[in-house]
Formats: sequence, C-alpha cells, structure tokens
Amino acid sequence: MARPKLKVVPVTEEPEHTLDQYEDAFLECRGLAHAWSSIGFFQDGGYVSRLVRCARCGTEKVQTMRTNGTFVRNRYEHPEGYLMTSGGVTKSDVRYEVLRRASNQTYGSLAELRKDLTKRSRRSS
Ligand SMILES: [Zn+2]
Repeated sequence: MARPKLKVVPVTEEPEHTLDQYEDAFLECRGLAHAWSSIGFFQDGGYVSRLVRCARCGTEKVQTMRTNGTFVRNRYEHPEGYLMTSGGVTKSDVRYEVLRRASNQTYGSLAELRKDLTKRSRRSS
C-alpha cells in the first residue's frame, strides 16, 4: 500500500498576525458576526442577488439565490485591514483578544452590569 505523501509545513516561532492592533469593529464582527442590513436586490445572471452591508465594519455581501429562494452563492467584499494576511485566526483567538480588551471593564456580576445600564439610561434621558 502506498504511503500518503506528507508535506513539510514550516513552523514559525511567533504568529505572523496578532490581533492586538486589529480594529475594534472588525474584532466585534469576527466575534459576534456581522450586523447586516439589506441595501437592495438586483437581477444577476439568471438569479436574483441581494446586496447587504454590515452596519459596524462596512463589509458587503452579495447573496445570490434562485427565484425559488434556494441558495446559489455568497460573495464578500471586506474593508481594507479586515482580512488576515497570514493563515487567519481561530474563534478562540478572537475571544481571547475580546477578553483582553475588556479586562478593565468587566463587572463582578450580571446584576452589577444591569444596574449600571439602568443608571446610564437614566442619565441619557
Ligand atoms: Zn461587520
């Protein structure tokens, strides 16, 4: 039986991309998913497509579907700096960075967070 061909993958000592300089809006979208708003529909090579835009980071998605609603494809256009130049990051990497940035603004309990939100909404009204 032939052995599978193995590829040598170079190991770098440090990741090529870290999230510490990554824009807040991009990090939020990677952690929570994009905040899509529908912009409009258009005919698209025998299909119908909808242009949607993320209210937070500006990423655009063209959702292409058949007229019966079945999925054809999604195409994305990201703002400069959104995509990682190296192999990308995991969901855990994103959560770690979110926690790191929130470390000095984390409440002791959900009740404390809600109490502060109530105070803030009273102040703004
Ligand atoms: Zn987004």
